[in-house]
Amino acid sequence: PYHSVAACAGLLRAGGFTELADGAQWKLARGGKYFVSKGGSEIMAFIVGGRFCQPGVESGLSIVGAHTDSPCLRLRPNSKVSGAGMLQVGIQTYGGGLWHTWFDRPLGLAGKVVVREAAPGRPDETRLAEKLVRITDPLMILPNLAIHLQSAEERKAFAVNPETHLQPVLCSKMFDDEAGKEASRPEDAGDARHHAALLEVVAKRLGCAPGDIMDADLCLMDSMPACLAGLYEEFISSPRIDNLLSTWAAVQGLCDFAASSAVADCQDVCIAVSFDHEECGSQSTCGADSNSMSVWLESLLGALEVPPLARPLVYAKSFLLSADCAHGVHPNYAAKHQSEHRPDFHKGIVIKTNANQRYATTALTSALFREVCKKADVPVQDFVVRNDSPCGTTIGPIVSSKLGIRTIDIGAPQWAMHSCRETCASSDARHLRALCGAFFESFRNIDTAAAKM
Ligand SMILES: [Zn+2]
Repeated sequence: PYHSVAACAGLLRAGGFTELADGAQWKLARGGKYFVSKGGSEIMAFIVGGRFCQPGVESGLSIVGAHTDSPCLRLRPNSKVSGAGMLQVGIQTYGGGLWHTWFDRPLGLAGKVVVREAAPGRPDETRLAEKLVRITDPLMILPNLAIHLQSAEERKAFAVNPETHLQPVLCSKMFDDEAGKEASRPEDAGDARHHAALLEVVAKRLGCAPGDIMDADLCLMDSMPACLAGLYEEFISSPRIDNLLSTWAAVQGLCDFAASSAVADCQDVCIAVSFDHEECGSQSTCGADSNSMSVWLESLLGALEVPPLARPLVYAKSFLLSADCAHGVHPNYAAKHQSEHRPDFHKGIVIKTNANQRYATTALTSALFREVCKKADVPVQDFVVRNDSPCGTTIGPIVSSKLGIRTIDIGAPQWAMHSCRETCASSDARHLRALCGAFFESFRNIDTAAAKM
């Protein structure tokens, strides 16, 4: 999640957005472009329309929401484990991953490290600083068990015990002994909770000594870069499509809109927000179930001098497009989909509906969304799960119940959700970006026109 937020911040800075401090009193101007982040893993970017809440002008918040996190294996606080002559890395599972897809794949490492460093301008003092590290070299591997060592039942089940079967191999102890990394652990080898050899690689990447590393939140990842796939390169094969695809489309769509001449005449605040911890229930300081977004929205309305009594109307006029990936129909498992609701690749963005409110879509939000799609020239498809199947959920129901904002759950179709390596259609990525841009540009007019009917 940290690198996705850093990548969004890079896109936003390049688009002329100004970074605001979380918790500070903001000075905002109509026509201005801003972003704020929390914990390095949640980000909200916004453009204040030139006519937002001007006298006689109907205004709301046009929001696209997504999430920055994906299921993965994360280092344990005490990650030093070993077995059968191998140095291994102790991990904990994060979110509901398809863990069997992590086997036989060269794995890299990325995340946040807290280091002790010299305080700037005060050479005798030190401070704690958060640094990002991303190592795409194949540092680790999680090998399968040979077919000959599995019983027929074990082969059939391919059931992974997340406690005992998921500790990847870092290196051979023999090699590590020769290198003298662990055996003669030097003074500055740092935190004894992790293998010295691993700390050394991370420290080298950060340009610090292993002993400066105080703590870390490190995620394992597929070390192979994303690529186009299929004979016509019509698919994207990548880790973390759920939900970096939507995070990218929201931020890129906002940047596209920022570059258009429509901002001066815009009546809304257009917002792209992406939360952490969706994959484990959203309850955290930077998750959708925190107060961070409501605090930010109140700071925003306060800075734009919208009187408290006028704010409920702004919220009532607001709309949240909750963007998270949908399940595209799989040719070998088509029967898993409800037969009238099988989203296809290349056929557009999916509206997700669930009568039991696992998705926040309503008849009205769906109708308004179809109008936006028409405007953007993006095709639409519908999804509901079969009545005999479990259903996923996302940030839509959480944010809509917290803020009372009209919400729809939508997304691009993908295959293999929560696999180490997922697949989606390149045309749908394009559709989603175009849709987000068109939503920011046209939602207020569509909503106003609908209200007049
Ligand atoms: Zn998701």
